[in-house]
Amino acid sequence: MINIYSYDELRKSKHRLSLLLFLLLNIALSIFYVLNALNNSASATLPSLIVALFCGSAIIACNFQLKSYAHEMNFFALCIGMLWAWHIDIRFHSTAVNDSDFLLYSLMVIFFISAISLTDNFIAFCLHSLPSALTVIVLDDFAHILTLLFTIALPLVSFSLHNLMQKRSEAFTSELVRRLSEEREKFSDLSMIDPLTGLYNRRGLHNRLNNLPGDRPVRHYILLLDIDHFKAYNDNYGHTMGDSALVAVAAAIRDTVRSRDIVVRYGGEEFLVMLIDVDESIAIACAEAVRQAVLDLKIPHKFNDKVSTNVTLSAGIAVMADNDIEASLRAADTALYLAKNRGRNSIEIAGYKTEQQMKLSAKT
Ligand code: GH3
Ligand code: MG
Ligand code: MG
Repeated sequence: MINIYSYDELRKSKHRLSLLLFLLLNIALSIFYVLNALNNSASATLPSLIVALFCGSAIIACNFQLKSYAHEMNFFALCIGMLWAWHIDIRFHSTAVNDSDFLLYSLMVIFFISAISLTDNFIAFCLHSLPSALTVIVLDDFAHILTLLFTIALPLVSFSLHNLMQKRSEAFTSELVRRLSEEREKFSDLSMIDPLTGLYNRRGLHNRLNNLPGDRPVRHYILLLDIDHFKAYNDNYGHTMGDSALVAVAAAIRDTVRSRDIVVRYGGEEFLVMLIDVDESIAIACAEAVRQAVLDLKIPHKFNDKVSTNVTLSAGIAVMADNDIEASLRAADTALYLAKNRGRNSIEIAGYKTEQQMKLSAKT
């Protein structure tokens, strides 16, 4: 999957490969001079051997140690560029070679390596080729200055234009990848949020569950909350008012529990709260606080001409053992069923009843 990080990685690996290619081409040139030395003793020089050693060591160092390649590239380009300038100087003054064809040929080889492997680094391109270019001009004693200047200027100008176009296209692609990555994160967040209440939906719950810190053993509790007689509310007041009541209840639940607790719209008029790292007494107190907060909203709920009350909810509480959310949900659902059967606006803990919970279960 492409994101801003993988794109950066791609660019980094491209720089790494360019550096490798640059070093390998320079080694190849050194080897060529060594092989040529079998016919011509002046072909291999001390600097050309140093180039081979230097590039070989640099390849090993790059594989094992170096992190940022841009700076290393400039450093290597300068060192190798100076060594080739030295090599040209030695060979020019040797008795075997002393003509301008040799100078032109040497310069072209250096520019060829730069153009092939340093296409995205203008500074390294100059650092690698200019020492040889200047040496060639001086050695030639300005005799073929026009030819040499043309040989130097042509690749430099072409390179600058090419580099400019490449930089613009890279900046465009980078911006595109950044925006795509931003949009994807936005949509991924939205797909985890219930649009009506702004609480997590089930997908959000599972995402949070997968990211729960597991550094120490802790106990969580599940509250399953269901609004009482909500079908009747909708029937009496209409779906729009029903939606407003859902939003108000959702906000009351969210405001009552702690920010670290996970609040989810679990179904139509059902909510789930996961109380993080609490014991049973705190879980019961939280469920009771939520029940009371919803009652305190005083949203009128008129069943018929005779029975009029407020919107309330009932809660089933269950511990989450061994991070088994499914088992905990089943237990909380059974407890919720009991709370409903007891007359609603009530809380019930799974498994057994405590004295405190019996006392807290209120009726309207
Ligand atoms: P109980 O006390 O047993 O939970 O009764 P109830 O009427 O709340 O339960 P029931 O499952 O019979 O009805 C749930 C109702 O919730 C039915 C449905 O119209 C309503 N509901 C579910 N989702 C929404 C919603 O997004 N907006 C509105 N306005 N109503 C909803
Ligand atoms: Mg209900
Ligand atoms: Mg329900």
